[in-house]
Parts: sequence; C-alpha cells; structure tokens
Amino acid sequence: MILPNLESLELNGGAVLLRVDFNVPLDKAGNVTDDTRIRGALPTIRYLQERRCKVILCSHLGRPEGQRVEKFSLVGAGERLATLLETEVIFSPELIGDGVEQLVRDLPAGGIMLLENLRFHPGEQTNDAGLAAGLARLARIYVNDAFGCMHRKDASIDAVVPMMEHVAAGLLVEAEVRALSQVLGQPERPFVAVLGGAKVSDKLAVLEALARRCDALLIGGAMAYTFLAAQGRKVGSSRVEEDKKLLARRILERCAERGTKVLLPVDHVVATALKPEAETRIVGSIEDGWMGLDIGPATVAAFAAEIAGAKTVFWNGPMGVFEMAPFAKGTLGVAQAIAQCQGYTVVGGGDSAAAVAQAGLADQLSHVSTGGGASMEFIEDGDLPGLKALRKQR
Ligand code: ADP
Ligand code: MG
Repeated sequence: MILPNLESLELNGGAVLLRVDFNVPLDKAGNVTDDTRIRGALPTIRYLQERRCKVILCSHLGRPEGQRVEKFSLVGAGERLATLLETEVIFSPELIGDGVEQLVRDLPAGGIMLLENLRFHPGEQTNDAGLAAGLARLARIYVNDAFGCMHRKDASIDAVVPMMEHVAAGLLVEAEVRALSQVLGQPERPFVAVLGGAKVSDKLAVLEALARRCDALLIGGAMAYTFLAAQGRKVGSSRVEEDKKLLARRILERCAERGTKVLLPVDHVVATALKPEAETRIVGSIEDGWMGLDIGPATVAAFAAEIAGAKTVFWNGPMGVFEMAPFAKGTLGVAQAIAQCQGYTVVGGGDSAAAVAQAGLADQLSHVSTGGGASMEFIEDGDLPGLKALRKQR
C-alpha cells in the first residue's frame, strides 16, 4: 500500500494539523495511567518539531458523546506529552473558531499545541463538514498518525482530509501498515496464526481472513471452547457461543480441505468459578461444574513447537483470563514462544498487546500493533477508511 508520507511534504515550517491517538486510560484524578499511545506519536511530533513546524495536535478521548465532559479532558494527556517532550504544550480548550486560530498564529515555529477532546463536539463522530472545515482553517498540512482510530469515519479522520492542501500518514501509521501488510500480503512460510480472546463472534472475520492465509491456526482463549463444543467435546461450563458452533465447524472443515493445520487446546486450567481464589485443576477433558480459563501446559508446549518453526507469526487474543494470575500462564507461555521465534512476529489487539507489555516482551517482537479495532479491521479488509482518505488525496 502506497501512502503519502512525511518525506513527500514540503513543510517549510508551516502549521501542521496532526491527528494522534491520545485515547489513554486515566485514573480518577485525571492522571494518565498508561502513556504508550502518547509515546507512539512522539517520532512524528519530533520530526515536525525539528523542521520548525507549528504542530497542532488533535485526538479524542473516551466517549463524551458530543458534550464537554471534564473527566474526558485531554489536559492530563497534554501534561504528560509536555513531560515526555520536555517542551511547553499550549492547550486549547476550543477546537475551532477565532480563539484557537489566534493561538495558532501566536504559536512559535516548532511550538506544540493540543486541542481539547474532539468528541466534545457532536460533529466528530458524525463526520461533520462544519467541524472539519473549522479544523482545516488551522493549518494547510494534515498528518494522520492515529492508526488506532483509522477504522472510524470521523471528521478528523475523513471529512477534514480533502479540505487540506497537503496530507500524509505519520510514522506510526506507516510502521503499522508496513507490519500488517507483511503479514497479509506475502508472509514468509510457514505462517502461524494464533487466535484467542473472549468471543468467536468478535473475531469471526479475522479468524476467516487468517485461516485463508496461514499454514497453521492455533486457537486458545474462550474462543476455543466454541470450537471444542462444535466437535462434540465436553467443555463443562466454559464459555461457549451456541449460535456460533455451526460456523466454527465450517471453519474447521474449510481448513481441513485447504490442508491448513488447526491446533485446539489438548489440556486446560479449569476452575469452579471465574475468581482468582477458586479451586483449579489441569485437565484434558472438562467435567460439569468446571470451566476452562486457560490453556494447559501440554497445549502451551504444542503451540510453542509450532511457533518455533514459523517464519511469520500473527497473534491476537489472550489464551486465558490473563488478568488473573492463576490463568495467565498460557498467555505468557505463548508470548515467550513468539518472542523467541526467529521469524517475523506481529501482535495485534488491545488485551494481547497489554499481555505482551506486562510480560516485558514487547521489544522482542517484530511489531506490536497499537490499534485494537483498527488492526483487526485491517486484517479483515486490508484497508481502513482513514487510509483510503489519505490515498484519495495524494
Ligand atoms: P484482544 O483485546 O487482544 O483483541 P479480546 O478482547 O478478544 O482480546 O479478549 C480478551 C479477553 O478474553 C480477556 O479479558 C480475557 O480475560 C478473556 N478470556 C480469554 N480466555 C478466556 C476464557 N477461557 N474464559 C473467559 N474469558 C477469557
Ligand atoms: Mg480486548
């Protein structure tokens, strides 16, 4: 995929409207509890700052539903950004209008400004031309580095793009697209896809897109129980989506026809309740009254062996309820196997990326995607609305 990039821009120290993903978690006092997303935007911000541009950042945060809701203010994110950049960040409580236009005029070359939460305006999520036109008045150049938001046809992602003189993808977006395209396009084989997580229904399209391309599909997490139930196995009170059993069976049949290897869990960490203090056992077959909350050690070994021989690995979805220590070993084991794999390794998905970060393995993978929903949609469709908007404008 060829995207207009930063190098193609004639910046000349002009003003740049930079869409970033500062949708960060906050504590009750409004402090940022995880600044991964802010750090992700730093290379592009620094690139523009070093070239003496006025950088006008905009992002959404949470779901204020088109109203000013103080707990969703971007002030805290702005403070964290200022600390990380060691520069002053001017905060604009207004998104559009005379006040913010004046702030932009007053901003020095290389100065950084952050606009308040885009979703305080009802037009952001309705892709409103009025909001987009107001944003477009702030700069001639637009850069989108908000990969995690590019699956949304919002005003700051879509409607604003054709109103700008010059547009480009930021460095984070470029890196994300490069990594995910490498998995989707011509992955070096064997290509192993590892899928887990909460629900088959969330991941159906991803599951099918990967099953079509990979050489081996490893299924863990709650999702595995729908597949095992579809094969007539005993799953006790594990989470099963009854209405997806037929689909699960069809996916297995299609994999068999294509010669795609499918590995389902052969053992499980089961418990009597979804609680960290519940009694647990490791079993091959799940009796009534027990639920599968993680893949067992034999499954980890089988998955790890498959991963070890892979030239490409894509992983989405934890192998168990990794938020609770007794059910985290499977996810950790798979994360370690992927970290040790010599091939090209990509992780996508909010919880999976968090698990990798928690294990301290993020820098041992080829790429950890920052976009949960966006990376899943890219895997499904090979494109995103925000990327289409940029390419149309080249
Ligand atoms: P991602 O965000 O990486 O795409 P998901 O959101 O699909 O992943 O799934 C993550 C959730 O799945 C976690 O909250 C985890 O607790 C849950 N989960 C994983 N395995 C099980 C299981 N066996 N039973 C219940 N929940 C599970
Ligand atoms: Mg999730």
